[in-house]
Amino acid sequence: MAWERVLYEKDGYIVKITQNRPEKHNAQDALMLEELQEAFIEADRDEEVRVVILTGAGRSFSAGHDIGGTGLPAKGIEMQTKLQGLEMRIKREKYIFYDEALALRNISKPSIAAVRGACLAGGLMVAAMCDIIMASETAFFGSPEIRMTPATGEVLVEPWEVGVRKAKEMVLTGESINAQEAYRLGLVNHVVPDDKLEEETLKMAHKICATDPITASLLKRSLNQTLDVMGQRASFEYHFLIHQMSHSTEAARRFQEQVGGPARARGGLREFLKARDGVYGEQS
Ligand code: ZN
Repeated sequence: MAWERVLYEKDGYIVKITQNRPEKHNAQDALMLEELQEAFIEADRDEEVRVVILTGAGRSFSAGHDIGGTGLPAKGIEMQTKLQGLEMRIKREKYIFYDEALALRNISKPSIAAVRGACLAGGLMVAAMCDIIMASETAFFGSPEIRMTPATGEVLVEPWEVGVRKAKEMVLTGESINAQEAYRLGLVNHVVPDDKLEEETLKMAHKICATDPITASLLKRSLNQTLDVMGQRASFEYHFLIHQMSHSTEAARRFQEQVGGPARARGGLREFLKARDGVYGEQS
């Protein structure tokens, strides 16, 4: 299959899926998220494939959802709806952010994220859906949403990845952590030199390919079920509703109308931060 926003390369038992908008640090629009899901499902369906690698073209894994807007779902037939306002947003965001993230997590085969550069917000969300994360020394991770609008991310992964204490610091300040810190906290499995990221990721993939694929897929299922029994799924669902609430507060409405919207029109995170600092009175 040919996709616009992702590359799909199969070599033996291994499929590499690449987020491919390097000029935009692989900012995810709706089309990219839909294509990511399709590519994962394709790899899951192909009985030859044993391991899926997810990475990003260029210097970054992904800077997150496209700040210029993620657009309407391009392929979601069920999204052709007359809903508007809050109802439309909940339906759209559940489809392109929440369900698609979970679809990546739930494929039956082991997956490895190979991360360099920015792995932020929506980028971190999809990396965290993979079973193993390989990081280059240039990688950094975080959820800066709170620095941009009075809103949170759609899927809150930090408490499951770095421990609740650090998660609170990360989501309340929007600060990111570097690769070594991510390794220390258990967010990533290994940190490798930048020019060795592909090689080391493939080594990891081949180690998994050398095991029985059916057992590997059963073990993955069991580990994901362990997370669910610990409450991960319920906490994701609760957080998605909290995310909707964070869009709907009076403060969010006012911010979007007076500050966020105009800053978005001027473009970029820097504009958001300048506008935000003007409202909350602290420099970031
Ligand atoms: Zn939202």
